[in-house]
Amino acid sequence: MDAKKVLEDLKRRFPNEPEYHQAVEEVLATIEEEYNKHPEFDKVNLIERLCIPDRVYTFRVTWMDDNGNYQTNTGYRIQHNNAIGPYKGGIRFHKSVNLGILKFLAFEQTFKNSLTTLPMGGAKGGSDFSPRGKSAAEVMRFCQAFMLELSRNIGPDCDVPAGDIGVGGREVGYMFGAYKKYTRQFQGVLTGKGREFGGSLIRPEATGYGTVYFLRAMLKTKGDSIEGKKVLISGSGNVAQYAAEKVLQLGGTVMTMSDSDGYIYDPEGIDRAKLDYIFDLKQVQRGRIKEYVNEYPNAKYVEGAKPWFEKADIALPCATQNELNEEAAKALVANGCIAVAEGANMPTTPEAIKVFQDAKILYSPGKASNAGGVSVSGLEMTQNSERLSWTAEEVDAKLLWIMENIHENCVKYGTEPDGYVNYVKGANVAGFMKVAKAMMAQGVF
Ligand code: NDP
Repeated sequence: MDAKKVLEDLKRRFPNEPEYHQAVEEVLATIEEEYNKHPEFDKVNLIERLCIPDRVYTFRVTWMDDNGNYQTNTGYRIQHNNAIGPYKGGIRFHKSVNLGILKFLAFEQTFKNSLTTLPMGGAKGGSDFSPRGKSAAEVMRFCQAFMLELSRNIGPDCDVPAGDIGVGGREVGYMFGAYKKYTRQFQGVLTGKGREFGGSLIRPEATGYGTVYFLRAMLKTKGDSIEGKKVLISGSGNVAQYAAEKVLQLGGTVMTMSDSDGYIYDPEGIDRAKLDYIFDLKQVQRGRIKEYVNEYPNAKYVEGAKPWFEKADIALPCATQNELNEEAAKALVANGCIAVAEGANMPTTPEAIKVFQDAKILYSPGKASNAGGVSVSGLEMTQNSERLSWTAEEVDAKLLWIMENIHENCVKYGTEPDGYVNYVKGANVAGFMKVAKAMMAQGVF
């Protein structure tokens, strides 16, 4: 494989999809050496078949708002690769959603799911609909309209969606209800469901907890721990909230949280009581993070900025893609940051990753450190198939085992001659080999 040529070809065939190109470029650069040790891969042009999704569904979603006006959005489902299990990946509802973003997410998901050791292929879906500012009735009507089309293309052994940005327990519940009504089947077709109808305990916590378990494993390689460390967190959604909770449980101090409008910095740290306030603000009131400073006036709110220029030991980007650039990375390193673990998908730009790796600080890509979410989704599928529910302790123990196993695999495939662990390379090579071997065994399609 000539990685440069493969990428150029994809850019020519699929222009205007920069996030997809970015994700493919990162993977190709790190797997090229390993790939070229296997001439049998190139004989069947495996790389092209791994980069291009199996299929892409695009559909119109029409729904009625509270004023009786008809609104139209675009819905998507990218079924990227099912070599090792049914398609699996979240659904994102956000105004920025487009084909290129979902293709990058589905591509990344394929490697991430492979890393978990569970039998799941890669997929992603969503819509340019934003639940922000919409009433619950509007969100419900949208979810029902979205599922009317999507229900034809998913199923418990075919494709099992979950949540992502803008899709939490409420939206998953509405979509599950719609699927059930249209198909007349009660099936484990979505994960992240409510506990009363097949949802797994620890699924809401899983991505954030898993990210911090992974961070802990990275720090352990340096004989260090989270105890006493100051931590910057971006985002204030599902991943950010539970990452903050686990940091507190392990003795760290959370200094910041954010949303797309700005960030809050609390010089005294966001303690348990303050985090409970944020849980209520975001999950119940559906408010904005800036409201925090009304409740805790010693904190500051910085409009239109990201938290990366504050001084801390650890950074956990948990909001969205490309939210941490080169300038921010340099500031983090200059301020003494020793570890960055991604809770979000591809939050760090390629230039920023280079800054971290050149400085030899601990840095893990989302496909490794945020894999806890999809792992517990996989465990939810198992519980649904068994028609059993496991205890929180059982699920949490399995989550911890999976995160430590992913960490071990990253170390195995990513350790460089000087002992520095390149977690990007480790995750990509480990994730790739399993999918590649499965594709080779199944013949050419
Ligand atoms: P939520 O919708 O619960 O929260 C997203 C948070 O990120 C919000 O605070 C939101 O602020 C902020 N955000 C969204 N878009 C932007 C933007 N363009 N610029 C700045 N901030 C933004 O989503 P999740 O917590 O579930 O997801 C966060 C990240 O984690 C995503 O990258 C997702 O793909 C990834 N992820 C999620 C998993 C899960 O299980 N939920 C699993 C693995 C990865 P605002 O309210 O202003 O939009």
